[in-house]
Amino acid sequence: MAEWTEHWDDESGTSSFAARLAACPAVAHATIALHGDLGAGKTTFTRHLLRALGVRGRIKSPTYAIVEPHEAMDCPLMPAGEVLAIWHFDFYRFDDPREWEDAGFRELFSSAGLKLVEWPEKASSLINGIDLDVYIEPDDTRLDADVDPEGESSRHVTAKARTLAGRRLVMALQNA
Ligand code: ADP
Ligand code: MG
Repeated sequence: MAEWTEHWDDESGTSSFAARLAACPAVAHATIALHGDLGAGKTTFTRHLLRALGVRGRIKSPTYAIVEPHEAMDCPLMPAGEVLAIWHFDFYRFDDPREWEDAGFRELFSSAGLKLVEWPEKASSLINGIDLDVYIEPDDTRLDADVDPEGESSRHVTAKARTLAGRRLVMALQNA
């Protein structure tokens, strides 16, 4: 399956990656799994993607709620007057599979719209239909001696497609 790797020198790389995905129509109904340790930049990337899709206002991290819903008004990918629904999940604190049904996550994952999933590993047997896996890792060069902590902002990023929609997203990254 298609795959794309790049470096983000700093957050402007994160934002450019998000903008390229946001320009691809396949993102509107995709499920994107975000892999990486605490502080890797999963939420930061999500904020850039949501902004690029037209989400306004505060974008809270869903760590405590597990899911935060958003609506992108005036999303360039949607027909005029239609809103793009976005579900931002963070399963870091998810430990009771019964909550999956009770909280209605099954319905959310099968509904229309974009789903972004932090810590998919914590609910991997329950999440269906991941189109794209994105792996974000701090760059190894940051381990070099004498690195200024301000410079510890580069990331190594890999996107791997699982489905046709995922391939379209990878192609959008390759061709932009
Ligand atoms: P996660 O959701 O993966 O736990 P966050 O996005 O909450 O991580 O935190 C990432 C932190 O790293 C933020 O403080 C962000 O400003 C900082 N950061 C520095 N450089 C980058 C980068 N290139 N991409 C994303 N975040 C970065
Ligand atoms: Mg996060």
